[in-house]
Amino acid sequence: MSNSMREPPTAMDLFSLGGRLAVVTGGAKGIGRYIAEGLAEAGADLIIADIDAETGATAAQHLRDAYGIIAQSVRTDVSDEADVIALGERISQEHGKLDILVNNAGILGPGGPPESLSLASWERMIRVDLTGPFLCCRELGPLMIAQKAGKIINIASIYGLVGSELIDVISYHAAKAGLIGFTKDLALKWVEHGICVNSIAPGYFLTPAAERGIRERGDSLLEYIPMRRVGGPDDIKGVAVFLASAASDYVTGQTIIVDGGWTIR
Ligand code: NAD
Repeated sequence: MSNSMREPPTAMDLFSLGGRLAVVTGGAKGIGRYIAEGLAEAGADLIIADIDAETGATAAQHLRDAYGIIAQSVRTDVSDEADVIALGERISQEHGKLDILVNNAGILGPGGPPESLSLASWERMIRVDLTGPFLCCRELGPLMIAQKAGKIINIASIYGLVGSELIDVISYHAAKAGLIGFTKDLALKWVEHGICVNSIAPGYFLTPAAERGIRERGDSLLEYIPMRRVGGPDDIKGVAVFLASAASDYVTGQTIIVDGGWTIR
């Protein structure tokens, strides 16, 4: 059938990820795990690149069993250049392609008042939350450049957009704001390669990292959230599937805020 005779894709076709290969950094737990699950539900094969090899392997096993997809766990510290280079080489050798990269791995601390935050704490945060995504794009992006197509999703935070009296981790705000700027410039640089680069800025989501802070603050936290609830798996996975799929082919350099309305006032 010639192109002109082909039926236009339906909305369901546009959101399908069948036959795509995705890497989710920090995909063993929390938001990364919610996103990995969503991508798998949409049909993608998955590589969980997490520093926690054991939990990563458990997550990969679950994805294989639940969705019948290819899912593997590759222990990776995104802040370690050698680890990320090795990840890129392994994907190149074993799969020869990459369609989706979710830069999700991140840490939320250590913090402290700006006037006394140690340089080591500052540098650790920048290293994991900002340098990590850079290294992953540098080492895995060429697989997308080679195929002239790809989707990169950076997990930023509303704290890259606004300050907060609730936490004292200025390095986190700086890293996430940096990631949003990184997203825009990389989107511009790689548009010629057919690669879309976007960010998601979540508000508070119930994850192992955020759980204690959410419980300690209780109802006082909900005062900040017009929807009066924190986010869960179903609030983020659809946004990630959208940005990973052909449904967002005309979207690049953007940050989608998913925060129950936190930042609208
Ligand atoms: P989490 O700690 O619950 O899970 C993070 C995962 O990343 C873990 O599996 C961990 O082992 C892995 N990881 C940590 N350091 C790593 C490294 N150096 N290399 C590879 N993997 C590493 O955290 P979360 O709450 O799910 O957060 C995930 C992302 O979402 C982070 O980038 C975070 O900044 C962002 N975020 C979270 C919230 C929230 O409320 N939970 C809000 C906004 C943004």
